[in-house]
Amino acid sequence: MQVITTCAEMTALCREAPRPLGLVPTMGALHEGHLSLTRQARTDNSTMAASIFVNPSQFGPNEDFTTYPRAFERDLELLAAQGTDLVFAPLPDEVYPDGFDTWIEPGAVAEGMEGAARPGHFRGVATVVAKLFTITRPDRAYFGQKDGQQVAVIRKMNADLNLGVAVVTMPTIREPDGLALSSRNAYLTAEERAAAPVVYRALQAAESLWRSGERNANRLQAAALAELQREPLVSAVDYVSVVDAATMAPLNVLEVGRPAMIATAARLGSVRLIDNVVLARVNT
Ligand code: AMP
Repeated sequence: MQVITTCAEMTALCREAPRPLGLVPTMGALHEGHLSLTRQARTDNSTMAASIFVNPSQFGPNEDFTTYPRAFERDLELLAAQGTDLVFAPLPDEVYPDGFDTWIEPGAVAEGMEGAARPGHFRGVATVVAKLFTITRPDRAYFGQKDGQQVAVIRKMNADLNLGVAVVTMPTIREPDGLALSSRNAYLTAEERAAAPVVYRALQAAESLWRSGERNANRLQAAALAELQREPLVSAVDYVSVVDAATMAPLNVLEVGRPAMIATAARLGSVRLIDNVVLARVNT
């Protein structure tokens, strides 16, 4: 496994590497969610590359960029154990040198939910992912459904800009109690951690209503919101949204043949957790 810190060296190594090349972009502090992506990338490709970069441009001014969990040495051990060939771990100045001034501005797909709650977030995500795609020129890139809107933003950018990468989405990995794995779970106090499964439970309440035939988005949202509000440690709900699973357009009514996503962002104390469930019929 080689650890690379400059864009030029990463590009040179990727150009020579056996193809297909699979890329797994991460911000480090790796957990089983990330490792499910590297495992699939390892299986699918001759070369597996991962990036570790806490991307400053996707954090708002009052967000947790400086305190975001960092565990570089441990991450390298985990990636080595996964059979990673190349680890790209640049410093912010390497990715955003003085004078950097070109951005990718996603459109409607990035307007609601995380885009509304975190202005500029997806501009930062899209720009760094475009840079990672350009630096490594991957055949495939792997993302988790956990960040459902992020996947939609990246798929749209990849299509709109003809980047030509096969974008692979992997299922959300959860703790046994349902809490989606996230590097930010480390911020939870013991009490908050015990209450945190409410986020998935709320989505499941909506999902089970949908399974029993409910197709009205407001009623699905209300079911999820009610579950969240039953938990005293939930200090705020940024949104509960039902959207088209590909475009992220808000839906009023769920239709056959149009996969939907119900997504939420809720705060437990000061910790902001996001999660989502895709509502798509596999049969009937
Ligand atoms: P991050 O380091 O948070 O930027 O995440 C890197 C990648 O791992 C993104 O594509 C995430 O969607 C994915 N990921 C994070 N948590 C999970 C999870 N619990 N299950 C599946 N994928 C995840």
